[in-house]
Amino acid sequence: MREKERAKEIIRRLERVFDIDPEEFIALKAYLERKDPFESLVATIISQNTSERNSFKAWNNLKSKIDIDPFTIARTDPKVIAELIRPAGLQDQKARAIVTAAKFIVENFNGDMKKLLSLPVEEARRILVENIPGVGWKTADVVLSMYGKPTIGVDTHISRVSVRLGLTKTRRYEEVRRKLMELYDPDEYYKVHLLLILLGRRYCRARNPLCNQCPVKDLCPRHGIT
Ligand code: SF4
Repeated sequence: MREKERAKEIIRRLERVFDIDPEEFIALKAYLERKDPFESLVATIISQNTSERNSFKAWNNLKSKIDIDPFTIARTDPKVIAELIRPAGLQDQKARAIVTAAKFIVENFNGDMKKLLSLPVEEARRILVENIPGVGWKTADVVLSMYGKPTIGVDTHISRVSVRLGLTKTRRYEEVRRKLMELYDPDEYYKVHLLLILLGRRYCRARNPLCNQCPVKDLCPRHGIT
């Protein structure tokens, strides 16, 4: 089977096996609730380096107390936000990133993040990463791809499973992102992101992957698995 065909078949297979449940992805849940890119950015920052469970607690706390719009957040003391998102961990750092993001969107896009989304994707991702400490490539790519921009956010699950599946040779962020973008069509990017994360969480775990039960075992060269 050719490389692209195999990559497509992996995703078709995962699509049949997994339900994409917004309760398992805080950023997706936030997106579906209001389709507000600033809210999606805040949810994605909260979800950095923590479990979805903790992210949901932090997100619900924040939403219950503060309107998540750039103007309100820009006026809010980061300490107040840090306290509310404490369940997600790294709360001071994340609160600073959230307030900086709000101020940046207010000052440069008149509070409307949709204007940022209308820029070419590479420009939009560079603007986010270069101007908001605490927003890295993964966070920028996750948010942008959710709104249909042609990019793929690569997290630790995605880089691990991509190498094991032989979709990419290295786990380096930009190489994995570029290779996945080459293998899939732009309208599939966000779905690919979610399905590879689910594969990593449920079967292709960092330690003791469940290869015998894995839905794509017949398509997988199991690179790096001893
Ligand atoms: S067969 Fe094993 S290594 Fe390959 S994707 Fe499945 S769990 Fe991961």
